[in-house]
Amino acid sequence: MHPTQTPKTYRVKSFGCQMNVYDGDRMAELLAEQGIAPAPEGEDADLVVLNTCHIREKAAEKVYSDIGRLKREDGSSPLIAVAGCVAQAEGEEIMARAPSVKMVVGPQAYHRLPDMIREASEGRRVTDTDMPAETKFDALPRRRRSGPTAFLTVQEGCDKFCTYCVVPYTRGAEVSRPHADLIEEAKRLVEAGAREITLLGQNVNAWTGENARGQTIGLDGLIRELAQIADLARIRYTTSHPNDMTPGLIAAHGEIDKLMPFLHLPVQAGNDRVLKAMNRSHSAESYLKILEQVRAARPDIALSGDFIVGFPGETDAEFEDTLKLVDAVGYAQCFSFKYSPRPGTPAATMDEQVPLAVMDERLQRLQAALNRDQYAFNTATVGKTCTVLVERKGKLPGQWLGKSPWLQSVHFEADAQVGDLVEVEITSAGPNSLGAVVRMVAAA
Ligand code: SAM
Ligand code: SF4
Repeated sequence: MHPTQTPKTYRVKSFGCQMNVYDGDRMAELLAEQGIAPAPEGEDADLVVLNTCHIREKAAEKVYSDIGRLKREDGSSPLIAVAGCVAQAEGEEIMARAPSVKMVVGPQAYHRLPDMIREASEGRRVTDTDMPAETKFDALPRRRRSGPTAFLTVQEGCDKFCTYCVVPYTRGAEVSRPHADLIEEAKRLVEAGAREITLLGQNVNAWTGENARGQTIGLDGLIRELAQIADLARIRYTTSHPNDMTPGLIAAHGEIDKLMPFLHLPVQAGNDRVLKAMNRSHSAESYLKILEQVRAARPDIALSGDFIVGFPGETDAEFEDTLKLVDAVGYAQCFSFKYSPRPGTPAATMDEQVPLAVMDERLQRLQAALNRDQYAFNTATVGKTCTVLVERKGKLPGQWLGKSPWLQSVHFEADAQVGDLVEVEITSAGPNSLGAVVRMVAAA
């Protein structure tokens, strides 16, 4: 495409968290509304949006190599926009280092993409990393398409300032989207085919809003209202902070059938000195107490978490506390990472950065324990009957794939279609998935 032409096709590539996936979908909807079509599989797009993630290292290097790969054989490039958290944190540098990038757009400014594309098509290079007071959501088009599972961002940003984390700087302060907008977006997603909605936020359980009766409610109140949408079968939420696990939200797990028995509650480490240095504002004990209450409300709940190994100054003995916490919880699935210094965060300049070899060894030990527990959790579901939401076809003829209430992938043979809720009996368990036989299919 010549740089002074309006793009006809686009491709959005999202990296990182589910919130970026949500943002990527919204950008795609925005572009479609401008008459720009998704590029057919395997074909070059006139416009490429790289929706980046900055949470761990090599993020920026990855962006530059992606930009390099977009160069065509004749030396030309598509119109490139860098979006997301790397754009927010390193926008100026990207513009200076990568002349083929014509647009840099931060996570709070992507509703301005259509204007930016117009400017870029006229040959200008544009940056917008503002965090405007008015919300981008008001400027986005109404939801018109959805698969059986959909994301819905209800809250953005973070005021917690964990000392290792870049999110408060790239996504800005904690903001809850208004209640009425969320109910409306959820209804539209369900009309468009969603049977499961996952509510998203960097601190999703910090969401608060005013309901139609003018009462201030928390995430549990929002979930209760969403559960009234008849064709919505399942509700999930992620990611939560232990400090925002209110008694109401804990109780909701025992009271709302549509709220799936799964909780992702990151702890990061099992040692209190490390947790304090991370500015987590909870202890290992207070975290375990919350899980105990959640389990009392919903005994079959699957627990999940995030861990960081090798935070500056973490000793061998302190790391052992993380392993002890893992043993005490018995997680169903987790994410674990080596600490990665993020420019501008307090931990990046702390003394005693842990050597990479030590972090590697700790991560291996931690992941061995987490894999052991995940397999044990999966094995314990064998013989249980549960519903599975059909998401897509499997590799074998007649095979379908979906998720159990506990967020495990389940494969089975059935005369079903995407969006069906299928009652199955779990017959086998592997480390990452379950096999099942069908008992009953409830059509979408
Ligand atoms: N708000 C959530 C919370 O408090 O747990 C998590 C948000 S963050 C996008 C997802 C995960 O990335 C964190 O839970 C943490 O485990 C990991 N993470 C964040 N910063 C990191 C860093 N500098 N190095 C390694 N992992 C990091
Ligand atoms: Fe990052 Fe901590 Fe905020 Fe989670 S709570 S987004 S880890 S600063």
